[in-house]
Amino acid sequence: NQSVALEMTITPFGNDERLITARDITHIEHLERMRKDFVANVSHELKTPLTVLIGYLETLIDYSDESDNRWLRIYHQMQSQAVRMQDLVHDLLILTRLETTEINVKEQPVNLKQLLEHLAAEARSFSNGRHEIQISAIDIEIDGCYDELSSAFSNLIFNAVKYTPEGGRVDITGYRDKTSIRVDVIDNGPGIDQKHIPHLTERFYRVDASRKSDTGGTGLGLAITKHILMRHNGHLLIESKLGYGSKFSCEFPLSVLSSGLPDPSN
Ligand code: ADP
Repeated sequence: NQSVALEMTITPFGNDERLITARDITHIEHLERMRKDFVANVSHELKTPLTVLIGYLETLIDYSDESDNRWLRIYHQMQSQAVRMQDLVHDLLILTRLETTEINVKEQPVNLKQLLEHLAAEARSFSNGRHEIQISAIDIEIDGCYDELSSAFSNLIFNAVKYTPEGGRVDITGYRDKTSIRVDVIDNGPGIDQKHIPHLTERFYRVDASRKSDTGGTGLGLAITKHILMRHNGHLLIESKLGYGSKFSCEFPLSVLSSGLPDPSN
């Protein structure tokens, strides 16, 4: 009793006729599942040795000769690379969990204003006065998973701070229009060339300049954000202009409102 995955395409032709094609994609789905399981297993297996390694590295500094600059340089390189690997493993585990688990989003009312204000405060502390960070959000509650929504928005807010040079500005807004609830994160940083925009939410995709810089990202943040938004029936819109800045918008249908759909007469 094996189930088969089919991909159906319906092509209209003639007056009232349709051509229906069914493609058996069971094999492709099976391979995709194997790939996800493999990534999940490898990441899980790497987690413990990396934690042990970082722990030992932390104690090793106590045995250092502080006058030995070469030793210290090598030590700091080892430590930062180990932490980078740990960040990668952490993000990969989050991403595979989002891809493989059913939408069992723990739905609870999430206060948009409180969540965004909390993230803005964290971003201010990270920026340490190097950016002007403004927040304005309406006081509404949406149904969703607090932790997931928090990481989705936080990826966008921290990216804006990370990629915007000192003296720049980051504006975070949470609002509602006729058809949607939106969270916009706007910065006046370097902007992104149009050719990169469709690829930004792909796993490990990073614009060259970011790879070379020491911003320390994993290239998985926007892929994570995209998946979280999809689990909340939302999606990510990206607009950017080189030299002017970027706008990342999360758009949700009004049905995410905890109080239900608003009265259309309002
Ligand atoms: P990373 O861990 O590299 O930040 P992300 O998936 O979060 O990975 O982002 C992918 C790439 O998109 C980044 O490496 C960077 O090149 C680009 N990017 C994301 N946000 C911004 C931004 N606000 N301004 C400029 N470039 C950005």
